[in-house]
Amino acid sequence: MHRKSLMQQPHAPRALDRGALLSVVAPMFNEHANAEAFVSETLAALDAFSERCRTELVLVDDGSWDGTGEQLDRWAADRSGQVRVVHLARNFGHAAAVTAGLEHARGDLIILMDADLQDDPAAFEAFLREWEAGYDVVYAERSSRKENPLLRLLFWGFYRSFSWMANMAAPLDAGNFALMDRRVVKQLLAFSERNRYLPGLRAWVGFRQTGVPVPRRARPDRRGRVGVRGLWTLGMNAIFSFSYVPLFVFRIAGVLSLGLSAAVLLYALYLNFFAGAQVQGWALQLCATAFLGGINLFGIGLLGEYIARIYDEVKGRPIYVVERVVD
Ligand code: UDP
Ligand code: MG
Repeated sequence: MHRKSLMQQPHAPRALDRGALLSVVAPMFNEHANAEAFVSETLAALDAFSERCRTELVLVDDGSWDGTGEQLDRWAADRSGQVRVVHLARNFGHAAAVTAGLEHARGDLIILMDADLQDDPAAFEAFLREWEAGYDVVYAERSSRKENPLLRLLFWGFYRSFSWMANMAAPLDAGNFALMDRRVVKQLLAFSERNRYLPGLRAWVGFRQTGVPVPRRARPDRRGRVGVRGLWTLGMNAIFSFSYVPLFVFRIAGVLSLGLSAAVLLYALYLNFFAGAQVQGWALQLCATAFLGGINLFGIGLLGEYIARIYDEVKGRPIYVVERVVD
């Protein structure tokens, strides 16, 4: 298990500098109904930090057509210098909007959250406390979900199978809602990968990470903007970006099939030469089918090995990330 264990040791405790900037980044797509409540709630939470650091709110309007963009612009005018709105040219989807937001945030600490009131700004305080305790990434562990039981079961199953398949340590029940240190965000922005599963990339980067339990609130309008298809794509991105298990299944199936073919052949030889029995036609047929099937599957498994290597090269992830050099 040591290969997958999460590094949990914090740095030495640190204090937040008064001049430091705390950014909150939120993507929004057709959130007209929630935008007012979200922005005022989040700004109120940020105002509570005004004694301790500077704050900003970066809102990404991901091609909304319900007036969300104009609504956000009014906030930006109201709170100029604190609220910034990034309008994307069309709807590019949640992951792209998040990337745009991270690129436009200037904070030394950056909190990423959804703008649908599911992520509770009350968690900021706990996030900051863990950062001060020496963690670079503090993610929300969804201690309770308000979605329907089937969706909850699917999420539960997804996080567990992902963590088993992934070729790195991945926290369970952690989504996008998290505080990240600037140096983690800098690494995330350096990834050239197209299909991004942010919780996975965030875990991949490393540094000192920890989770705090944060109950996930219900979406007031109960209709996720990402939708079932979007969640499916996200799950696929997660698995295919961080696991080669699906490719290597063929190799295992091939080996099993070749093994079966050899076992049947030995059994047939034994029957023929030692038991003096007539070898049945089915045995030879099974032997041949299993052999050919096995060779095929094994070949696909070999191709998989090359594809996995090509894919690794194409993704072009950094080979390592330096935390610090001591001399
Ligand atoms: N969102 C976005 N672009 C999209 C879909 C969603 O910016 O194409 C935003 C959405 O407004 C919300 C966040 O991403 O702030 C999460 O979306 P949603 O609540 O639908 O995701 P879920 O909670 O269902 O995973
Ligand atoms: Mg949501």
